[in-house]
Amino acid sequence: MGGAGDRRSARATILAARLKERIARDGPLKVSDYMEACLSDSGAGYYTSRQPIGEAGDFITAPEVSQIFGELIGLWAVAVWQTMAEPKPIVVAELGPGRGTLMEDALRAWRSAPRFLDSVSIGLIETSPVLHEVQQSALHGSPAPVMWYRGLDEVPDGPLILLANEFIDALPIRQLVHREGAWRERRVVIDDKGGFAFSVGEKLSGLDLDAPDDAILEIRPAVRPLLSSLARRADQSPVAALIIDYGHVESGLGDTLQAVSRHRFADPLARPGDIDLTAHVDFAALKDTALGVGLTVCGPLPQGEFLLKLGLEARRDRLLETAKPEQRDSILSGATRLIDPQQMGLLFKVLVLTSNGLASPPPFGET
Ligand code: SAH
Repeated sequence: MGGAGDRRSARATILAARLKERIARDGPLKVSDYMEACLSDSGAGYYTSRQPIGEAGDFITAPEVSQIFGELIGLWAVAVWQTMAEPKPIVVAELGPGRGTLMEDALRAWRSAPRFLDSVSIGLIETSPVLHEVQQSALHGSPAPVMWYRGLDEVPDGPLILLANEFIDALPIRQLVHREGAWRERRVVIDDKGGFAFSVGEKLSGLDLDAPDDAILEIRPAVRPLLSSLARRADQSPVAALIIDYGHVESGLGDTLQAVSRHRFADPLARPGDIDLTAHVDFAALKDTALGVGLTVCGPLPQGEFLLKLGLEARRDRLLETAKPEQRDSILSGATRLIDPQQMGLLFKVLVLTSNGLASPPPFGET
């Protein structure tokens, strides 16, 4: 009897074997290469082989917690489009759309903005064939055209609103370890018992930052090319990007690589490809990189504050007015979970990047 659990562990074993062969052949793997393989290996990677999001999966994201999240972001997009002088067409593209829930909820909100709905075309940027299918059925019958792309560079030029919720955290990180007065690459090797283990590699040159022994510094190599590509578009057309993720406002030292399986933390080196691997987003680094490539930056703002300023309470109360008695509790608890400082309200942050000369998108321009 081969159940879903058996298939999961079979794939994990396949990827573990492949990674061990690769390490035996090419030497230790950078943490970023290990993370890349675990998440995106074709066939045996975590995202490429399953639909992981939701109660029955491994983790829950804001759009899955409450429809209010996607609806408010949908209305935010309309307001941004207005600051762009209402271009037609406007592409609203989403990086890593998961189950397509955010876009489904945004589309519902756009029904009250017919001129926008008449101008918008949707782009979903996804590398996972499994999630692509889930998104296709979620957006089946969409009143706006929907296109799929494998990267931002495939999205046609022109005015763009880009959304990314819990996308950056899934981009691989490198980890550097400070040891004996120098920064060194943290790597994944095979230990004496044949399992995966961390080790520390040769000295790296060119990084002049003092730190205590064993301090860890995390770097996300894919951020700069992504933001450069956005900046190139922003030179030609109005562009606004909404980035929401969990992470810290100030750069710091520390190991934030985290594995999650079935809503619990797990060992990042256990069951490669079978567990989710993410790391905190360094919003200070993200902001610096964005400024460095010439984008205008607003935020970061805590998610709770952002959503409250966009009118979360009014939207929640409207939903409650028409809700069935048995729906009230989940509407209330979902709305609270998004904004409560003890839940998602503070840990998650919102950063907005725009082309120069665009009025600050709400709620940033307001006093
Ligand atoms: N935004 C969704 C899903 C978050 S999970 C939500 O909030 O529910 C991360 C998403 O990013 C998944 O859809 C995953 O398949 C996608 N993804 C991960 N790495 C990617 C990459 N390099 N390019 C495009 N999509 C990627």
